[in-house]
Amino acid sequence: AAKAVGKGTYRTFSPGMEIRVQERVRLEAELRTALVECRDLFVFYQPIVCLRSGRVTAREALARWHHPQHGWVPPSEFIHVAEESGLIDRLGTFVLDQACREAAGWADGARVAVNISATQLGKGTLIPAILTALAGSGLPADRLEIEVTESALLSEAFDCIADLRHAREIGVRVALDDFGTGYSSLAHLRAFAFDKIKIDGTFVRDAVERPDCAAIVGLVADLGRRLGVTTVAEGVETAAHLQLVTVEGCFEAQGYLFSTPKPSERDAPLVAALEDRLEILNAAGTQTA
Ligand code: C2E
Ligand code: MG
Ligand code: MG
Ligand code: MG
Repeated sequence: AAKAVGKGTYRTFSPGMEIRVQERVRLEAELRTALVECRDLFVFYQPIVCLRSGRVTAREALARWHHPQHGWVPPSEFIHVAEESGLIDRLGTFVLDQACREAAGWADGARVAVNISATQLGKGTLIPAILTALAGSGLPADRLEIEVTESALLSEAFDCIADLRHAREIGVRVALDDFGTGYSSLAHLRAFAFDKIKIDGTFVRDAVERPDCAAIVGLVADLGRRLGVTTVAEGVETAAHLQLVTVEGCFEAQGYLFSTPKPSERDAPLVAALEDRLEILNAAGTQTA
């Protein structure tokens, strides 16, 4: 708590900050309980669609926390708590295990993409966790993808890259998430041979109204083609977004237009969006597979 302060000393916390600190401490304790008791935590999935074939090639696993009082807490509010409190390994293992188990039962054979935090890398724990999840579920390694954000690689630390390399050696694909939002995006592509580049949704959503953003999407798609890397456009919400990323040459797309994240394999609205996609491809004179 903020102490009564004498002359020349700082008050460390304002009353508002104090509440936030308490909330944060409570949130951490509650997240720990949820993890230990294995309740209120779920994995939702969002389809990633091949723009050529219209098939779902993968589904991204996204952690969901249903708090007993606050309801659904978004990942933007609890992932960083998990990272800062050392709970991320536990959460990461929960998501990996659950995602591999559910994906093993998917009739369409799509891959599952699991987000990995920077703090899970370089500690010698990730690869064992992956191997355990694969062995426990029977999912073949080539049906698992891991997604790392640019900030995860900020340091390009040797041990972090070594983990990614090891993952690829056992047959797991590695995607660079939120491409374009971090520092030295191109340096990351040089540091490691990614299987996939995910173009951040902010570029896609701005691109319809801003030619400069459309140019960036097109440039990354070209870059992917030259590197032999699959490019995914994130944040495709409308038919106009889909049109744009198709014309700009992205391989795959993901976004609310196809489906919001949902419990395993419940992405039914996909069909309507895929009809849009067919129309767009036909209008653009592109050959459909
Ligand atoms: P991300 O990996 O970039 O995941 C994509 C995020 O974009 C998801 O947010 C998804 O719901 C959202 N999204 C998908 N389509 C659209 C769209 O059309 N429009 C908009 N506006 N958003 C869309 P979500 O589920 O809230 O997750 C946010 C971030 O939290 C993720 O970003 C990822 O960095 C992190 N995260 C989520 N689950 C996990 C996890 O299990 N482990 C770790 N380490 N991070 C996770
Ligand atoms: Mg991701
Ligand atoms: Mg992303
Ligand atoms: Mg993100």
